[in-house]
Amino acid sequence: MKIPFHRPDIGEAEIAEVVDSLRSGWLTTGPKVKRFEEDFSEYIGKDHAVALNSCTAGLHLALEALGIQEGDGVLVPTMTFAATAEVVRYLGAIPVFVDCQKEDLNLDASTLEARLVSAEEQGIPVKAVIPVHFAGQMVDMAAVSEVAGQHNLKIVEDAAHCCPAHFRADESAEWEPVARRSDVAAFSFYANKTITTGEGGMALTDDEGLADRMRIMGLHGMSRDAWKRYTAKGTAHYDIVAPGYKYNMTDVAAAIGIHQLKRADELHAERKRLAGLYSERLGKVEAISPLEINSNRIHSWHIYVVRIDLKKSTRTRDEVASYLREREIGTSIHWCPLHMHSYYRDTFKYQPEDFPVARQMFDEILTLPLYPGMTESQIDAVVETLEAAVQGEK
Ligand SMILES: *Cc1c(COP(=O)(O)O)cnc(C)c1O
Repeated sequence: MKIPFHRPDIGEAEIAEVVDSLRSGWLTTGPKVKRFEEDFSEYIGKDHAVALNSCTAGLHLALEALGIQEGDGVLVPTMTFAATAEVVRYLGAIPVFVDCQKEDLNLDASTLEARLVSAEEQGIPVKAVIPVHFAGQMVDMAAVSEVAGQHNLKIVEDAAHCCPAHFRADESAEWEPVARRSDVAAFSFYANKTITTGEGGMALTDDEGLADRMRIMGLHGMSRDAWKRYTAKGTAHYDIVAPGYKYNMTDVAAAIGIHQLKRADELHAERKRLAGLYSERLGKVEAISPLEINSNRIHSWHIYVVRIDLKKSTRTRDEVASYLREREIGTSIHWCPLHMHSYYRDTFKYQPEDFPVARQMFDEILTLPLYPGMTESQIDAVVETLEAAVQGEK
């Protein structure tokens, strides 16, 4: 049975809306982007939304708007995607990596303060932290905001996996949606994310000044009202206030996003159901354990990650992945820790063992196929093939 790692779920409404954009003659940033921004800020519950062509752009603009400069330190989990740390480098700032915790692969908030102190001892003034909500299960934002409050750090959430996700500090606390405790939260609508526009992202904030700065810098640094040239109120005149970037979302992308967002809760329910099936079926496979599910989180289930117990498995993780690939089942790895990649290793002189949990987890983790439209028999086939891979003779 051929099972791809991912398949986007695009409905007829998305297709019709894209066709409408193509026929309208308005392809780039316009009325549909505005509508998508309004709908998205309402869905998550934040005052301002800036639609962009990627989440990476959102993270970059957030740090720029918050005044992060050359030589500043930014706390970043090593267990993340390239984007989270590269945006720090775009500004000449220094990613100060933080180890993850075994249970959910999120950054270990109990180590944040010690990392900050050791970076400052090396002369790196730490100004911000970027919590990444791994797989869509949120970081302990109460702990992060406490450290941030004590050390005057800005918080930028990498919420690429989080449409939607919720957090509560403990059983007695109120549920709060993602993006509540940060200065800016950046979402991704890349093709394999929970909702998609093909390529796209959104930066959310309650701060009008930050929203304005991100809008300006996301469009060539052209003065506040310049983007209105995309609307009926626009004029041909603008002032360039800074050398900005070209990060705006197109109406064609927003056309997809508007309808994906309407289906976000339905798509989430389906992911949750499929993840539940995996967890139930995997219970009988001794060498495989899913990441822990925290009862104080509403998990978006962007991805389903398992750990392979290398003492019990007859195959290594890479051999398990090949075994599945040979049987036409797609998998992925989230992620090889950033401090182990040559650029960060060589530039900042990291050793693999500097972050021992991430180092160890990297050998054990495998991401299984998960997408709306997967059938129960496909889940069964993945689990059975995985079981054969870890138990069978090589
Ligand atoms: C996908 C992803 C991004 C980047 O999203 P783009 O929209 O492709 O820029 C950033 N951070 C994490 C954790 C991601 O998984």
